[in-house]
Amino acid sequence: MCGIIGYIGKSEAPANLLKGLKKLEYRGYDSAGMAVFDNGRLAVAKTSGKVSALAEKVRAEWPGERFARPPVGIAHTRWATHGSPTSLNAHPHLDASGGIALVHNGIIENYRALRARLEAKGHGFLSETDTEILARLIGEFYSGDIFDAVCGALHQVEGTFGIAVLCAQEPDRIIVARRGSPIVIGVGVDGECVAASDASVLVEHTQRVIYLDDNDAAIVRADGVEIRDLDNVPVTRAVVGLDMAPSAAEKGRFAHFMHKEIHEQPEALANAIRGRLDFTRATAVLSGMGTSPRELSELERVVMVGCGTSLHAGMVGEYAFEDLADIHAEVQQAAEFRYRNPILDRRAFVVAISQSGETADTLAAVREAQQKGAFVMSLCNVVGSTIARETGRGVYLHAGPEISVASTKAFTSQVVVLLMMALKLGRGRRLSREDGLALARAIDGVPALVSRVLEADPAIAAVAERFVEGEHAFYIGRGLMHPVALEGALKLKEISYIHAEGYHAAELKHGPIALLAPGVPVVAVACDVPGKDKTLGNIEECRARGARILGVVTEGDADTIACMDSVLTVPPAHPLVATIPAVVALQLFAYHVARLRGCPIDQPRNLAKSVTVE
Ligand code: GLU
Repeated sequence: MCGIIGYIGKSEAPANLLKGLKKLEYRGYDSAGMAVFDNGRLAVAKTSGKVSALAEKVRAEWPGERFARPPVGIAHTRWATHGSPTSLNAHPHLDASGGIALVHNGIIENYRALRARLEAKGHGFLSETDTEILARLIGEFYSGDIFDAVCGALHQVEGTFGIAVLCAQEPDRIIVARRGSPIVIGVGVDGECVAASDASVLVEHTQRVIYLDDNDAAIVRADGVEIRDLDNVPVTRAVVGLDMAPSAAEKGRFAHFMHKEIHEQPEALANAIRGRLDFTRATAVLSGMGTSPRELSELERVVMVGCGTSLHAGMVGEYAFEDLADIHAEVQQAAEFRYRNPILDRRAFVVAISQSGETADTLAAVREAQQKGAFVMSLCNVVGSTIARETGRGVYLHAGPEISVASTKAFTSQVVVLLMMALKLGRGRRLSREDGLALARAIDGVPALVSRVLEADPAIAAVAERFVEGEHAFYIGRGLMHPVALEGALKLKEISYIHAEGYHAAELKHGPIALLAPGVPVVAVACDVPGKDKTLGNIEECRARGARILGVVTEGDADTIACMDSVLTVPPAHPLVATIPAVVALQLFAYHVARLRGCPIDQPRNLAKSVTVE
C-alpha cells in the first residue's frame, strides 16, 4: 500500500533509493528499509519511523565505499497491515538463505495457509508479516532463475501485490511484478533503470514510463526491461509520457503540501474546466465519457462509487444528476459495492471516483460493474492509473500531483467534473438551454470564487485559533451542504486528530445531540442555498444546549451571521457550485487548527495516500 523503489544503474543505489523514498513519504508510512548488493551478498537496513532515520542508519552501517558503491538495490516505505510497525517487520524481507530480498505493497490473503505449509517444511519466521512468507516461498522456488522463482511463488498467492525482488546470485537484475498494486518502470535512461510504485519518483530520472498491468512481471536491467506474464509469456506494454514537472513534488513557499495544494485550487479547477464548457450549446464537452447522445438518453441510473473524500464528491454528484439530468443517481461506498451484488445492466452508468486511480475497493467495484454489463467510466487524477486504464473511458481531473494525504484539490476538481457531467447529461435530456447556460457560467466562475476564499486565509487562521483546544466537534449541513459538512469533518479529523463527526443537520437530534455539552463546537454549513432556513432551526437546537457555533455563511447574509458565534464567509454562488468555496473554507480551517496544534499535517498518523488494500 505504500512505497516501492528499485534502482539499477551506474551510480550508488543507496543515495538514489533514499531520494526516492523521500518522495514517497507523502503517501504515509510507518517504517522503511532497503537492500543492496554488497560484495556478492545482500546488505539490508531497516528501521521503524522515518526515512531520515533509515538514512542515518544506512550511512552509519555502510560507511564510505560500502555506501557509495552498490549500483543495485530495492527500498520500501511500509504501511503496516500485518504486524506492528517495528523495524523487524519493516521490508525488505529475506528468504531462508538470505540471498533473496523482497519488498511488497499489498496483502497476501492466504498467508496463513502458506505459512503452515512452510512451517511444515521447517521454516521459522522473523517477522509477523505476510510479506516474509512470500519471500520464503520465492526462496523455495529458486533453482537458479529468480524470475521463474518469483512467478512460481506468485502463482500460489491470493491477494494483492506490487513487489520488487533482488537475488544475490543474479546481480544484473531486479524482478518486479504486480496484481492490484501499481508498479511503473522508467525507461530510456542512459544505463540506469528505476521502477517504483508511484510515477512521481521517476520524474527526475525519465519522462518515459511503462505501467505494468495486473499479473505482469518484469526483468529490470540497467540497459532495458523485459515484460512477461506470470506464465513467462512475453507481453508488450506501451511506453507513455509522464507529463509531470519534477517541481510538482516540491512545497515551494508553503510549509506544507496541504497548504500549497489548497492554494493551487484556482489553477487546478481551471485545468479541470479548460476546454470543457460549450457556451453556444450550453453544455459540457467531455469526450472521455465515450457515450453517444442516444446512449446517454437511454441511461436510467447513475451509480457513483468511491471511498472517503471521493464518496463525498459523489454525494454532491447525486444532487447534480437528479436535479439537472432528471435521472436517478446514487453514490455507493466502493468497499461494499461488489459484496451487495448490485443490480446493474447496460442502462446503468457507473462512475468510479478515485484520485489515485488505484483504490483497491473502487477497482473491485469497477470490475464487478463491467462484469454486469454496465457503462463504466472513471474520474481519476493520476493519468495512466489502473482504474483509468481498466475503464477505458473517463475524465481526468488534471489537478496535478496531489501529495498531501488529506485530499483538497482533488475533491474540488472531482466536484467540478461531476457538475460538468451532470450538465452534459442534463442537456441530453430535460435541462433547458437557459438553465444549462446559467450553470455553465457558474462553473466557469468557480476558480475566481475559490481565489476569493483563499484571500481570507489569514482571517480563517485567526478564527482557527479559537478552536485549537478541545477534542470533539460536530459538522452539520443539509442538502448539498451535507456532503460539505462530512468532508469538512473528515479534513479536521484526518490532520488535527480532533474527533469530528459530520452529520445531516436534521439527524443530530436522532442521537448524536446527546453528546452536545456546553462549549462543544458545531460547525454549521449554512450558505445561502435552499435548505438554509431549516439548518438555522437545527443550529438553534444546538445553541440551546450550549454548543459554540461556527458558521460557514454567505458574505452579506447578515441574519444568518447573527446566528453564529464565529463565521467563515464565502462569496455568493449558484447552489450547485456553492459547495466548492464552502469546502475550501473548511479545508483552510482544518489546516490552521492542525498547524496550531503542531500536527504532522502532510503525514498524518495511520493514513496512506492511496489505499490499495481492501
Ligand atoms: N502487508 C505488508 C505488511 O504489512 C505490506 C504493507 C504495505 O503495503 O506497505 O508488511
